[in-house]
Amino acid sequence: MATLANIAVGSQVWVADPVDAWIDGEVLTIDGDEVKVNCTSGKTVTAKVTNVYPKDAEASPCGVDDMTKLAYLHEPGVLQNLHSRYDMNEIYTYTGSILIAVNPFRRLPHLYNAHMMEQYKGAVFGELSPHVFAVADAAYRLMINESVSQSILVSGESGAGKTESTKMLMRYLAYMGGKVAAEGRSIEQKVLESNPVLEAFGNAKTVRNNNSSRFGKFVELQFDQRGKISGAAIRTYLLERSRVCQVSDPERNYHCFYMLCAGPQEDIERYKLSNPRTFHYLNQSNCYELEGVDDSKEYFETRRAMDVVGISTEEQEAIFRVVAAILHLGNIEFAEGTEIDSSLPKDEKSWFHLRTAADLLMCDKTALENSLCQRIIVTRDENITKTLNPEAAVQSRDALAKVIYSRLFDWLVNNINTSIGQDPHSKFLIGVLDIYGFESFKTNSFEQFCINLTNEKLQQHFNQHVFKMEQEEYTKEEINWSYIDFVDNKDILELIEKKPGGIIALLDEACVLPRSTHETFAQKLYQTYKNHKRISKPKLSRTDFTIHHYAGDVTYQTDLFLDKNKDYVIAEHQSLLSVSKCSFVSGLFPILAEDSAKSSKFSSIGTRFKQQLQSLLETLSATEPHYIRCVKPNNLLKPAIFENNNVLQQLRCGGVLEAIRISCAGYPTRRTFDEFIDRFGILAPNVLDGSDEVTVSKNLLEKIGLEGYQNDESYDNLAYCLSNTTALLSLLHKS
Ligand code: ATP
Ligand code: MG
Repeated sequence: MATLANIAVGSQVWVADPVDAWIDGEVLTIDGDEVKVNCTSGKTVTAKVTNVYPKDAEASPCGVDDMTKLAYLHEPGVLQNLHSRYDMNEIYTYTGSILIAVNPFRRLPHLYNAHMMEQYKGAVFGELSPHVFAVADAAYRLMINESVSQSILVSGESGAGKTESTKMLMRYLAYMGGKVAAEGRSIEQKVLESNPVLEAFGNAKTVRNNNSSRFGKFVELQFDQRGKISGAAIRTYLLERSRVCQVSDPERNYHCFYMLCAGPQEDIERYKLSNPRTFHYLNQSNCYELEGVDDSKEYFETRRAMDVVGISTEEQEAIFRVVAAILHLGNIEFAEGTEIDSSLPKDEKSWFHLRTAADLLMCDKTALENSLCQRIIVTRDENITKTLNPEAAVQSRDALAKVIYSRLFDWLVNNINTSIGQDPHSKFLIGVLDIYGFESFKTNSFEQFCINLTNEKLQQHFNQHVFKMEQEEYTKEEINWSYIDFVDNKDILELIEKKPGGIIALLDEACVLPRSTHETFAQKLYQTYKNHKRISKPKLSRTDFTIHHYAGDVTYQTDLFLDKNKDYVIAEHQSLLSVSKCSFVSGLFPILAEDSAKSSKFSSIGTRFKQQLQSLLETLSATEPHYIRCVKPNNLLKPAIFENNNVLQQLRCGGVLEAIRISCAGYPTRRTFDEFIDRFGILAPNVLDGSDEVTVSKNLLEKIGLEGYQNDESYDNLAYCLSNTTALLSLLHKS
């Protein structure tokens, strides 16, 4: 922030702007606390002095590769730096140890070739240009040298580049830790090829990203004593199930459906497939093709990757047979049956799809029909058959499609894990996390709630780490510093997770209490948290609630919360598929040992997700973390467009601005003594007496009368506080 002490008429400044966030200009006049600025855009703006920030007039147009090298570490400075680097295709920038990666939306092959990997191998961190390889290398070195497990946490909003970054990290780690495979496929090959397999089944085109991961992923690479990869495990989180039956324009369903429809003639015939436009689960949206993607080529690629990760030809055949069966299921329509509130397949076309689905799933046709159109109610004395009306039958059909698909996805993950193999003797690991970023849409449901919980947890982890790192840095440099005023989001986490009484616990309660609805759930929330400062009831709604997240307010619609929190397989579906003649299908629905009454016991998605997160955080807290913050420079998914406000919002959500704020409270500006004397020597030329640079720098600061700086003579940097930066630069300006 500017104060009257650090700006003068003629100073270069940044001034807040509603469109571009910050624009630069020159101070024309100062009148009380109002500053008139002549902006480079041509406008003249009058602003309060508190909305004006000093600008480093001598900043290099190429920017700096680490934000801590900026003369002014403030919001406009950070933004300007990222922007000017992006314009030159420099997509990576450090903020201390955090890597910021701005999505180029164009291929930059020279950045990722084998030569680049060779370059980063063993290079001192910060010596070469910022890069994901540098982060991977640092993690690998630390693991080897200090025998500590590492983790690399990649975050950012949808389409920001998390998955691409993750793949590069894994490629680099495979390159460093790979063995020459004795026979068969090596572990690292399997790990790398698990990506296309999981992407085929877990990624889809969305409004935000043509290849959006609809699940979270944590890959754990295990290393042996010699630093070679000896095992790996993939954990996935919360696949979006609703997409299987529901897509809205211009999105797509999961890639695998389109791949299969574009597959070889032989498969098309065998699975009775045709154009994707003929399938209800695909034609709800008018988007079928992806620019630059050939689905038939992808099909072969996926099959090839499946070979590598150890999925047999028979298993592959069964997998795609199940995928086809889901498409046929979706085409079964229902009409009113003869009795009231009953239903049956609507027409010959529906019967055809029902027969085909039954054939492909290798189960009985009548049993399939019954499982879609009837429920059996078990009472103490007898079993009563209840028919479903057409609407309920459609719901039953969609539930079946979703449960099959999600079991299929879990099978893939488990199978890949078994094939890769775990190393029980592994000494250390490097974990790579690629998980959905903070989401706030027009309507937000249970999925967003879980995703934002994830982000709150990771944010807490991040804050604690950044805070600790900063503190350690000062201790190392023997600098006195304490930063007490650091924000904590513990209260939000408690609000959501507390047991009993937290939001998830209340939701679970609502799911088991008879006659509970989303309305009663919402009422209970309002009552319980009437005066909580992190949650509120929006004025015009009776069932929504707003959480004041660290990254902003999100209003959740509770309508489907209860439904989406219930994790169960309809008993009729379970009994249908568990006796499939196809061992692959029946294997997806194993008969549980407990009696059926017990197996229908409520199991909560929210609670399970919370536990998975807990365990993830436990794993992470035993590692040394590294952070990569991916930034999406525009929503058009196009190269060379950098939207200031959009980027700022992401830096805020990713905690980058908070990390900078923490660092600003100390001595954020660091320069080598040389650089310092070069730039500021002119302010007191007589101190340049030939003494060593440390002495000269100190004398210089004393002469000008500045105190907030520290240095450790064994350390070759001078660190000074922000007010010094401003004072020095304004003195320079005045001289
Ligand atoms: P989601 O949360 O939706 O899964 P994401 O953060 O994983 O999003 P990516 O799929 O990694 O996003 O990236 C989106 C697209 O941006 C990619 O398909 C690619 O076209 C482009 N992209 C991302 N990173 C890079 C990069 N480093 N070089 C070139 N293109 C990139
Ligand atoms: Mg992704």
